[in-house]
Amino acid sequence: MLEKTATPKRYLTAEDSEKLTPVHVVWEITLACDLKCQHCGSRAGHVRNRELSTEECVDLVRQFAQLGTREMTLIGGEAYLRKDWLKIINEISSNGILCTMQSGALNLTDERLRQAADAREIPLIVNATVSALFVDAGRVIRGVEITRPDGTRDALGCQALTLACNGYGGAPDLVAKYIPEMRHASYFGHPGNCGDAVLWGGELGAKLDHMSGYQGHGSVAHPHGILISWAVVMEGGFQVNQNGERFSDESLGYSEQAAVVLAQPQPGCIAFDIFDERIAAIARQFADFRQAEELGAIIEAPTLAFLAERLNVPPPALAQSLAEIEEARHTGCPDRFGRRFAGEASLAPPFKAVKVTGALFHTQGGLAVDGTARVLDASGKPLPNLFAAGGAAAGVSGPSASGYLSGNGLLTATVLGRIAGQAAAASLQRTAPASGQGIAL
Ligand SMILES: Cc1cc2nc3c(=O)[nH]c(=O)nc-3n(C[C@H](O)[C@H](O)[C@H](O)COP(=O)(O)OP(=O)(O)OC[C@H]3O[C@@H](n4cnc5c(N)ncnc54)[C@H](O)[C@@H]3O)c2cc1C
Repeated sequence: MLEKTATPKRYLTAEDSEKLTPVHVVWEITLACDLKCQHCGSRAGHVRNRELSTEECVDLVRQFAQLGTREMTLIGGEAYLRKDWLKIINEISSNGILCTMQSGALNLTDERLRQAADAREIPLIVNATVSALFVDAGRVIRGVEITRPDGTRDALGCQALTLACNGYGGAPDLVAKYIPEMRHASYFGHPGNCGDAVLWGGELGAKLDHMSGYQGHGSVAHPHGILISWAVVMEGGFQVNQNGERFSDESLGYSEQAAVVLAQPQPGCIAFDIFDERIAAIARQFADFRQAEELGAIIEAPTLAFLAERLNVPPPALAQSLAEIEEARHTGCPDRFGRRFAGEASLAPPFKAVKVTGALFHTQGGLAVDGTARVLDASGKPLPNLFAAGGAAAGVSGPSASGYLSGNGLLTATVLGRIAGQAAAASLQRTAPASGQGIAL
């Protein structure tokens, strides 16, 4: 159940309404833009003749501060195309107003993002790994140890900590322990995701939930390592193993299909997606598919028999697989795996195929959290100042790959991440500054 988080600053109070306070200001600070969107309501593109000077902008921010404004959102054009955009951000923050920005982000480079964070006086440390947590006897996190690529270490104090270091897809021992059916799968997420959140949580007595849940994908071109859109299957294609035989109801979903493909006869834990030019035309809208074609991963043949030869699978078996599908299409009954083909177009020459394997995209199990992203211990009690979001926290997919729905990964990264950030910030206002050294985990 979701609990109410800290109220966003821009929410109107009765007093705001009474005083007509301009609580949230959306400010188009320039019409200069590096995009040419047809739908642009501002008709942005070029700088206006008489845009405000830096001094006028600073003065305006101060006036809004006096009027009680609590949040200013910079838009454009593209706010970052103004030379003084960082000064404006800094002025807004220095006046105690929350500064946010909307952007098409075409040229919002890492450097610009870092400068914007600096302007809001948000310290950022990159290229460092958190190697230990400092925790006191009351399970309060007092700080973290970071290790830089050259091996140097620093200790940083904290009053609250949000773990956003994803799950354990990059830790083969943890994958084998919690998701044994995926122990041979390639991991497609960031290799630095080695399960630190669940390991630290375990030491702190945190509850772990749904550790066997994950997002898999049963259609990654092998050996190219390129995602082949599941549209290839759902638009009427199918999968066969190296014997040319169907082995599953592919329509159940790409996530659970990863383990099914990996369970196919050795060598290789591979399968073939079989489709045709009509389906390829649909899949070409995805850059991955186009790249797979450029790299020669997509195999084409004028007849099914010739395709079987090119795949090195027995031609009669492949022909039989397609015949069974045609039968199911014709009768409207489900095939022997339960998949329905009624209403779908028959595959037509030239036929296409791609050799695929199953891959692990990310783990969905993790630290149990409450509605404000606070990490819970085994008894369901929140740890004093530890929060988790993204893949570090248990997701909403349940304990198996079949519970994963597209979007569940980014849901916990973005929505729970925002909730965690807000709740951690709100907790700082309630707690006294941390002091003293803890024990390193
Ligand atoms: C190929 C692919 C396709 C996907 N498609 C979708 C999709 O269509 N929809 C969807 O919702 N989700 C999708 N996902 C999943 C989604 O990307 C993840 O769920 C999401 O990125 C998780 O966000 P996160 O911030 O928790 O972790 P990440 O984005 O993985 O970031 C975690 C970061 O933490 C760093 N880190 C780890 N440990 C430490 C440490 N000790 N110290 C410092 N840094 C550390 C890592 O290096 C990494 O940079 C996909 C994933 C993959 C791999």
